[in-house]
Amino acid sequence: TLSLVAACSLVSAAPDHDQLRPWPATLPQGLLDLRIVDQLRFGPNVTARFSTDYGRLTEATPAAVLYPPSAADIAALVRLSFSSPRPFAIAARGHGHSVRGQALAPCGVVVDMASLGGAHGRVNVRVGDDGAYYYVDAGGEQLWIDVLRESLNHGVAPRSWTDYLYLTVGGTLSNAGIGGQAFRHGPQISNVYELDVITGKGDMITCSPGTNSDLFYGVLGGLGQLGIITRARIAVEPAPERVRWVRLIYTDLGSLTRDQELLLSITEKGFDYIEGELLTEKGIDNSSFFSCKDSAKINALAAEFRVIYFLEGALYYKLNAASQVDERLESLLKKLKFVPGFAFTKDVSYVRFLNRVHEDEIKLRPLGLWDVPHPWLNVFVPKSSIRDFEIRVIQAILTADSSSASAGTFLITPMNKTKWDDQMSVATPDEEVFYAVGLLRSATEDDWKRLDRQNEEIISTCEHARIELKQYLPYYRSQEEWKRHFGRKWERFAELKSKYDPKALLSPGQRIFTSLT
Ligand code: FAD
Repeated sequence: TLSLVAACSLVSAAPDHDQLRPWPATLPQGLLDLRIVDQLRFGPNVTARFSTDYGRLTEATPAAVLYPPSAADIAALVRLSFSSPRPFAIAARGHGHSVRGQALAPCGVVVDMASLGGAHGRVNVRVGDDGAYYYVDAGGEQLWIDVLRESLNHGVAPRSWTDYLYLTVGGTLSNAGIGGQAFRHGPQISNVYELDVITGKGDMITCSPGTNSDLFYGVLGGLGQLGIITRARIAVEPAPERVRWVRLIYTDLGSLTRDQELLLSITEKGFDYIEGELLTEKGIDNSSFFSCKDSAKINALAAEFRVIYFLEGALYYKLNAASQVDERLESLLKKLKFVPGFAFTKDVSYVRFLNRVHEDEIKLRPLGLWDVPHPWLNVFVPKSSIRDFEIRVIQAILTADSSSASAGTFLITPMNKTKWDDQMSVATPDEEVFYAVGLLRSATEDDWKRLDRQNEEIISTCEHARIELKQYLPYYRSQEEWKRHFGRKWERFAELKSKYDPKALLSPGQRIFTSLT
């Protein structure tokens, strides 16, 4: 099933390192003289886990895996590769939740970032120096769920989240980190004060908007191309305790997006979180949000209209302000045009709300439905093209083919461009409002290629229709496509690459400056 397989040849090891025999031919013998050689592991039993990812669409075997107890050890590895006449590729691996081999390092070294955390993790919550703001200092390898737990011990929490929390700080900050809070606080990359980064030359640099700012902005959304994030200082706010969670049903996309855009403009007492989802006529199954009775009612509507949508909103509150949340919700619902009688609410703890996708994971894993191929496509669609996207993609491609809409989640989340910093590397549409559309499909070994071809059809259809899509978690095959993706940011990005990773050692799996084949 795998689109790419790289094999690395082996040669004999130096005599005093019998335990490292056979030594991978692609790694310089100079590594044997470094202290970190003891942190390297070889062989198929070790490398198998680091040869593919959540997507299960791509495979490439590294020559070795580094398990570094400290950031200095990663820097030593990078310096050796940088100074070697035969440099080797290095990929930081967060939690391996990419879907296209972005954290692979064919014939090079994968760095198991989790090793940095040690037994106790590396999340320190402190009040900022001037006492006026809070932040958490988190290791780049930390999972967001652990950042959440530790910051809650101090009564605070980060403001902007991904839907799923078993992702690493370094991994999401290399992309953007988007979710239902982004319309208000921006993506996770807009909520960072400072970073520690190891560049492609092996330099350890602290950067912020005021110091080494080119590296700071470049690394955020920089797809791991400029450096390895070993620490991030992240903005936090006093944590809410409870969440009033609501889903409102719509029978057409236009009404959903009109209401989402209206909600974007409400800054006082508006929702703290807004997303949207498309439901096909297959309806809801296995939902922990809706009761059986409500699911049946919604499924009947979905069968009638073939495609329906729901707007998902959340209001955060502290227990001592519980009485006001009903009022807040009522006043918001009055402004919205969902199908009458189709508003569903739930009240849950803040942690349960943020960690909701993990509940699905726990259900899907034992059914063998989690570790399957994931031909995902994530795109940013400008507001001006969302109607066109509905006609050409949702109606003409996705729902026209009833089998294609099988297992999966289809998200439509509004984004507010003013909350994104244009100096950062991530590419977004040039419009004030755009939608993050996630076609998050699971597949079998037999049908992922078909879904993948359908993804390509979606992209080429949009190209022909001049819908200016930007891929999120992008995947391209040629540098020409990458240039188009970055647009006016390309030149700057390439300049930063030649400054901070001139030998293109880092994250080769993104295939921007390197080819895996
Ligand atoms: P990896 O997959 O391990 O790495 C991703 C890339 O970053 C690689 O190129 C790697 O080399 C590089 N990298 C890893 N660590 C570092 C580091 N410390 N410094 C520099 N580069 C590094 N994304 C969202 O924005 N919002 C969501 O709601 C969301 N939900 C998701 C739900 C699921 C179930 C899954 C599987 C993914 C989801 N994602 C979401 C995508 C996720 O943000 C990306 O997969 C991201 O890469 C984080 O995964 P990771 O930490 O496992 O990183």
